[in-house]
Amino acid sequence: ITLLGIESSCDDTGAAVVRRHPDGRAEILSNRVAGQAELHAAFGGVVPEIAARAHAEKLDIIVEAALDEAGLTLDALDGIAVTAGPGLIGGVLSGVMCAKGLATGAGLPLIGVNHLAGHALTPRLTDGLAFPYLMLLVSGGHCQFLLVEGADSFRRLGGTIDDAPGEAFDKTARLLALPQPGGPHVERTAADGDPARFAFPRPLLDRPGCDMSFSGLKTALLRARDACIAETGGAGLRSRDRDDLCAGFQAAVADVLEEKSRRAIAIYLDSAPADPALAVAGGVAANRLIRTRLQALCDETGLRFTAPPLRLCTDNAAMIAWAGIERGLVGPADDMALAARPRWPLDTSQAGMLGSGK
Ligand code: ATP
Ligand code: FE
Repeated sequence: ITLLGIESSCDDTGAAVVRRHPDGRAEILSNRVAGQAELHAAFGGVVPEIAARAHAEKLDIIVEAALDEAGLTLDALDGIAVTAGPGLIGGVLSGVMCAKGLATGAGLPLIGVNHLAGHALTPRLTDGLAFPYLMLLVSGGHCQFLLVEGADSFRRLGGTIDDAPGEAFDKTARLLALPQPGGPHVERTAADGDPARFAFPRPLLDRPGCDMSFSGLKTALLRARDACIAETGGAGLRSRDRDDLCAGFQAAVADVLEEKSRRAIAIYLDSAPADPALAVAGGVAANRLIRTRLQALCDETGLRFTAPPLRLCTDNAAMIAWAGIERGLVGPADDMALAARPRWPLDTSQAGMLGSGK
């Protein structure tokens, strides 16, 4: 089975061709991503209207490039998978319309994919993980523990009740005048810092369960930053202050993720999975400290730990094509009524609950 995947739910326009061989082996034939960072840089965040227009402008070119690189034409495909949500509605619409056009023109099945399912199923694409596995999805917009039981079966064990960690990294960068997206810059800056100088809060650690909170961290960081600036008599942040603030912030996030992962693992192990594994995905999974902590936790609890390569951890279309293949194997394709959904909870037991799209 060979699918074209299309992704445009945030600020990356992606197209990819992925094949599932008869023995179940996955092969990425092409995976094109065009970012928009430079378009949004001046605004300190993604501007939905600009993103939607950029997707609409770039999609055709990216799709063509992905097909070219795979050495295939549309008629050699078995279907087209597209992110149908959740995400910025203008971008999702651009992708869905592009996919509908291509599917109609070439007479191919259309499969709407949940962007989060794309992230959650990536470890099967990269490492062939068997169901059920535990997934920690940590990105710019999401943070949740998922029990991945099947291509269409996800159980949410808990998640953030406010900001996502990636968002917190981005806000931290903004507060410290570092470039966007903030994660990599905060990580680099933290490398020279003292994580113990600032005692940032570890929210919700005293409560049972796997829920997390990161918005208080940002407030604490703002206060600490202003105290540092005041110390210089208003001259500005010293580079050592910035290093220590980043290190302290990163350590707090890592502590929370580690401790909550420990609890999620305990719940997961209760079901006695044959081949227990924890996978991380989402842009924040690129963070070295967080990866190291989770690896150590898995070593301790006897889980296999996998983290997809970075370009498959952040938004991309290969994961959408793969999720489309997996979904196509267990359910029917969509038709031209496929809708773009700004919110779309993964856990079907929560479907329809207002405000649960994150
Ligand atoms: P979503 O996929 O949930 O809609 P998104 O598209 O913003 O959100 P991703 O592309 O998966 O998410 O990840 C981007 C986020 O990852 C950004 O917030 C970025 O700051 C963060 N990030 C990237 N690299 C690192 C890093 N090394 N450390 C921490 N955070 C990072
Ligand atoms: Fe994403």
